[in-house]
Amino acid sequence: MINFDYVRAASPKGAVDALARDPKAQFIAGGTNLVDLVKKGVLLPEKLVDITALPLKEIKQEGDKLRIGALALNSDVAEHERVVQGYPLLSLALKAGASQQIRNMATVGGNMMQRTRCPYFYNTDMPCNKRQPGTGCGALKGFNRMHAIFGASESCIAVHPSDMCIALVALDAVVLVSGPKGDRRIPFAAFHRLPGDTPQRDNTLERGELITAVELPKNNFQRHVHYLKVRDRASYAFALVSVGAALDIQNGTIKDARLAMGGVAHKPWRLTEAEKLLKGKPVSEDLFRQVAQKAMQGAKGYGHNNFKLKLAPASIVEALKTAAAKA
Ligand code: SF4
Repeated sequence: MINFDYVRAASPKGAVDALARDPKAQFIAGGTNLVDLVKKGVLLPEKLVDITALPLKEIKQEGDKLRIGALALNSDVAEHERVVQGYPLLSLALKAGASQQIRNMATVGGNMMQRTRCPYFYNTDMPCNKRQPGTGCGALKGFNRMHAIFGASESCIAVHPSDMCIALVALDAVVLVSGPKGDRRIPFAAFHRLPGDTPQRDNTLERGELITAVELPKNNFQRHVHYLKVRDRASYAFALVSVGAALDIQNGTIKDARLAMGGVAHKPWRLTEAEKLLKGKPVSEDLFRQVAQKAMQGAKGYGHNNFKLKLAPASIVEALKTAAAKA
């Protein structure tokens, strides 16, 4: 049990100011990950700034973009008419995540900020560079079945656990943030980061910055979309590998494509080179196999997770086939 101060922010500026005043303060919204981290002693906050009362829950059309407030609940976003109709990949990915109870509490911003589920990160008796820089990586030569096959480093081989973020990176979302230095926009692909030698940093937010919204540009991916999540249980389990696939098919030809993977890297893993292979080509399983092969370039297993080197390309082919076949 630890003691911490608790304050409720009344405005986004008030929340940002509260963090600026206290270097040990942290935001809390739905708390679906943060409370676990506090209970396990992974995080020891001295002050929590509750942001749940801020007016950041709205989902609204702004011109040709959809703006989703950072405090919109995962369950509300998944069922929202404009999301279901205009961004079905996002709806599918959200519904694949966690459980209905957690989706009813978890916010969009919190989903983006959730920490890895690496077991060494949650066990304070084990070495972990992400939790305590310089102590080593327990997973590197330990039990690493859930871990990364792309973009890892000797310092950390953890993966980002979100499903929602796979859809957002595929759909070219933009993250809107407010901070002590003002407002800025971060392309979703640049929001999360690879571990390098500073795995303690999951993302590119500056200290004190608050996520206020996510913006989605208009797209033509309403029909041929699929989110495939391969996991140990049918519900309430993180992805071993997931694939978000969205195709714009006209007269049997792929006009445009988006492809991203989860459960394979420290960040949502967009497959832009593989997407290029799809564009302008007729739909075929052969093409999907070539794309999967391209997508796997640079992949590396660490022992227990070597099975992902076969599971990932098979999942890409399956996701593309399923997306293409949708009526
Ligand atoms: Fe920690 Fe990352 Fe290694 Fe897991 S993979 S033990 S989170 S440093």
